[in-house]
Amino acid sequence: MRTWPFTRGVHDLGSGLYGYVQPDGGWGWSNAGLISSRGETLLVDTLMGLDLTRDMLDAFKKVPGGERIDRLFNTHANPDHFLGNGLVEGAEIIATTRCRDDMHDYDPHGLAALRTNYMNMGDAGAFLFETMGRFDFGGIDAFTFPTTLFDGQMTLTVGDKTVELRDLGPAHTNSDTLAWVPEDRTVFTGDLIFNEGHPIMWAGPIENWIAACDHIVSLDPAIVVPGHGPITDVTAVKNLKAYFEYVRDETRKRFDAGMGWLETARDINMTEYRGWSDPERIVANVFSLYRHWGTQFTPDEARDLFGAMGRYHWETTRHAEGCQHDH
Ligand SMILES: [Zn+2]
Repeated sequence: MRTWPFTRGVHDLGSGLYGYVQPDGGWGWSNAGLISSRGETLLVDTLMGLDLTRDMLDAFKKVPGGERIDRLFNTHANPDHFLGNGLVEGAEIIATTRCRDDMHDYDPHGLAALRTNYMNMGDAGAFLFETMGRFDFGGIDAFTFPTTLFDGQMTLTVGDKTVELRDLGPAHTNSDTLAWVPEDRTVFTGDLIFNEGHPIMWAGPIENWIAACDHIVSLDPAIVVPGHGPITDVTAVKNLKAYFEYVRDETRKRFDAGMGWLETARDINMTEYRGWSDPERIVANVFSLYRHWGTQFTPDEARDLFGAMGRYHWETTRHAEGCQHDH
């Protein structure tokens, strides 16, 4: 297994392909990619805000062809993958129709106002502040949306490379598209793959995400650039599939026994995944599974999902700190 250092910045994957990585890979710390061939470029995703995206574009200017971005492809509609779109001036921006539509769920002024609203939002606000408070959402008056839209799949030519875009969602979100470069056996997965971190299933169903993992394995990639975490290979894809199967089966047992969703999230033994970041995401994943299995959540419960994750996070970290004295 080839390993890549988990360091911030550009990673040269060879043959005009680059990953851009942001440790620690947790909430908001997303990865991006660049494909450069014969003077043409395709950027895969922007980052969580203008400052981070500006740093990335400056870093890419130092690689051959990277001073100009011809096209930008957004893998999905989470802010840590498209907030910086406005800095990629003049580029054609490509995404699925559903991805573009879902970007409208966010409002740049609402995001910027979080800075002052966190404290009025209870546990959800407190946990949002803890995870997102370090990001600067300012300076964006209006989002820059994709204008070249497709559904399902689309094949691009970048210089002399073929890039296949394929939507394997709904899984993480309603539309999750990867970019596959067959001749280099390299795939940029967006958030279909989290490496060394818990995935979060906003959409599901989980079977779709498991099928997406199988699809990525079937491509037989040599290099996998995940949406979060270190650059990797197919091992991370198999690990993620095993995670989903485990979480699905453990959740189902408790669902069938009539256990409530919050209790289920706390009851599942996650010891095997203790090395992965953001363990509180089990709460959101159990929530999504229950929802798919017919549980009706109140709007308040749905709104408080970040609060529920926060309480899990605070309880488990307090527990871990307390345990240090015992060992
Ligand atoms: Zn992300």
